[in-house]
Amino acid sequence: MCFNSAQILRKMTEGDIKYGLKVVLSKIQAACSKRSSELQDVTPRLVAVSKTKPANLLVAAYEEGQRHFGENYVQELEEKSRSPIILTNCADIKWHFIGHLQSNKVNKVLCLPNIYMIETVDSQKLASTINKNWEKYRQSDSKLKIMLQVNTSNEEEKSGISPSEVVDVAKFVLNDCNNLELAGLMTIGKFGYDLSNGPNPDFICLKKCREDLCQKLGIDWKNVELSMGMSDDFEHAIELGSTNVRVGSSIFGARAKP
Ligand SMILES: *Cc1c(COP(=O)(O)O)cnc(C)c1O
Repeated sequence: MCFNSAQILRKMTEGDIKYGLKVVLSKIQAACSKRSSELQDVTPRLVAVSKTKPANLLVAAYEEGQRHFGENYVQELEEKSRSPIILTNCADIKWHFIGHLQSNKVNKVLCLPNIYMIETVDSQKLASTINKNWEKYRQSDSKLKIMLQVNTSNEEEKSGISPSEVVDVAKFVLNDCNNLELAGLMTIGKFGYDLSNGPNPDFICLKKCREDLCQKLGIDWKNVELSMGMSDDFEHAIELGSTNVRVGSSIFGARAKP
């Protein structure tokens, strides 16, 4: 995606965020009504991806009723989730970690206030490390929700387990990770896919992974979420059955390139 410098430099206000959020929520509603009948009773969750954005803008979204927020850098999530402005104004915030998580940083994420879900578990080893460590940090005996990140586009630079490994890793989580709840599957997918070529193959692939998983392990597909869709394609993803869309720039404005 390309933004001109004026868009990058324009400073977003709290009002802009509230407006952007409303627009995204109404587009989600519209996309829901286009789904096939078997998908009608699922309401997709909006995760507002707030990376690089200042805490006051998150508070604006929270005041509009937004509860789920996503961050993809450990340090940034640490700073935001512990910042006084978030702790005082957003008591019920639910954080999703959506970036690459190295094993040696697991504890830094698990100890954070209001950590809700890790969407990017990309190996059996990482699942095992999170499982072992969650006991130390959890408040009650609650399980930590995780998703398995699948590299549906088979790109070398992308993290994620390959589609052929999904059943085995899911089985490991279900059988050997008592402290984890397998919430679903997640993909990022190829950037810039042109929808005029038909349904996004990454989304079709993730759906197929769920089908395999549910069939082989005897699970109801309604209990396995699909996290797919970002600013450019969340409506399309919802039409294909996404239950969790991760939307950043359409709510908070363009991000400056790092
Ligand atoms: C940044 C990010 C998003 C949101 O991207 P937008 O195009 O700004 O909506 C979603 N998912 C992940 C994993 C991301 O890193």
